[in-house]
Amino acid sequence: MDLHVHIGRDSRGRPVKVSGARDLTLENIAREAAERKGIDVIGVVDCASRRVLSDIDLLSQSGAMEEAPGGGMRYKGRTVIIPGVEIEASCRAGEGPSAHYVAYFATLPQVREASRELSRHTTNIDLSTQKTRLAPEQLAQLVTDMGGLFVVAHAFTPHKSLYGTCARRIADVFGGEARRLVTAVELGLSADTGMADRIAELASYTFLSNSDAHSLGRMGREYNVMRLESPSFAEVSLALARIDGRRVVANYGLDPRLGKYYLSACQVCGARFHAPDAAVGCPECGASHVVRGVSDRVDEIADSAEAKSPAHRPPYLHQAPLQFVPGVGRARIARLIQAFGSEMAVLHHATRDQLAEVAGERIADRIMAAREGRLTIQEGGGGTYGRTLAD
Ligand SMILES: [Zn+2]
Ligand SMILES: [Zn+2]
Repeated sequence: MDLHVHIGRDSRGRPVKVSGARDLTLENIAREAAERKGIDVIGVVDCASRRVLSDIDLLSQSGAMEEAPGGGMRYKGRTVIIPGVEIEASCRAGEGPSAHYVAYFATLPQVREASRELSRHTTNIDLSTQKTRLAPEQLAQLVTDMGGLFVVAHAFTPHKSLYGTCARRIADVFGGEARRLVTAVELGLSADTGMADRIAELASYTFLSNSDAHSLGRMGREYNVMRLESPSFAEVSLALARIDGRRVVANYGLDPRLGKYYLSACQVCGARFHAPDAAVGCPECGASHVVRGVSDRVDEIADSAEAKSPAHRPPYLHQAPLQFVPGVGRARIARLIQAFGSEMAVLHHATRDQLAEVAGERIADRIMAAREGRLTIQEGGGGTYGRTLAD
C-alpha cells in the first residue's frame, strides 16, 4: 500500500493540488493502482477538498465505489482508498517554520466533519495541504478526537517537516503526549530506516514509506507491505500500532541517495555536497543559501552513528522504479507493464530472461542491476532527484 497520493484535479478539471498532474483524479488513481501498479490500498491525502468529496459521491452513486467493511472506500471491488488529509502547521501555534502532517479517516462522514472543522482554521480547504492556524498538538488532538490517525509526513525534508525544519525531537513539538498523538512516521524519499533508526525516540514508532505522488506514474515509487486480515482502515490502524499480528512487514523505497533532498545543495550555484556544519555556506561559491540535505540533518540530530533498530522493525528494501532505470522511457514502461501485469511484477518478480524477451538484453540487465542495488547513483539534493547511471 501507498498511503500518500495527491489529487491533481477533480473530475470536472478543477484544481486540487495545483502542481499535481491534470490526469491525477480520484478515479484514475484507483484504476492505476489496480491495473498498472499492483497496489491494493491507496491513502489519498486531499480528501478534505469538497471537490474530491463530490467526486467520491459521484463514484458512490454510480456504484463504482462503496464503503469497505472496516473503513475505507473500495473501487470496483479492487483498490481500497483510505481517505486522508495532508495539513501544514507551524511548529508552535501560528509562528515560525512549519511542517506537514497527514490524517487518515475511516468513513466519509468523518472526512466531511474533518473538512468542516479544518475549514474554520484554514484559508481554502478545497486546495491541497492547507496551512492551519492550529498548533500541531491541537491539530493532532482534533484528528484523534474524530477517530482519525495522525502521521508525521516526510519527516526529514528541508522545507516542511518536523525534523527538517521544526525540531530535533517529536517530543519537542508534541510534548509528553507525543506517543499517544502520533501514530506513525513517514520517512520521505530521501531517508530510509537505516538513517531514521539513528534517532532513539523513533524506536517505538512504526515507519511508513509512501510515494507522495503528484502524478500517476510516480505512485508506488515507495510503498509498504502490511500483514492484514483484510484491506481496511481498521486493519491499517492495527498494523501501525502492531496489534494482534497486524504489522508492516516491509518498507519499499528509493535508495535515499535518489531522493530530491539527500545532499545539501547551494541555491545560488547548484553545487551538491555534504555539509556537516549547518552554519557553513557553499564550498563552491561561498553563498549562504544552502538547502540542508536530509543526510546532513540526520547526522546533526542523531543519537548514534549507527542505526539501532528495534526488534519490531521490518526490513527496508531499496527499489529503483522503472522511471529511474537508464534507457527505460514511457513506451518501454507501458510494454513491460502490459507483459507482466504491473510495475511491481516487473521490478521484483520477472526473471532476467523474461525481461529480456520484452525489453532486450541490455535493459533486462539494468532492471536486474536496479533490483539488486548494483546501479551507480549520482546523489540528489536541493530539489533535484538523484540519477542512476548506465555503465
Ligand atoms: Zn507534504
Ligand atoms: Zn554555491
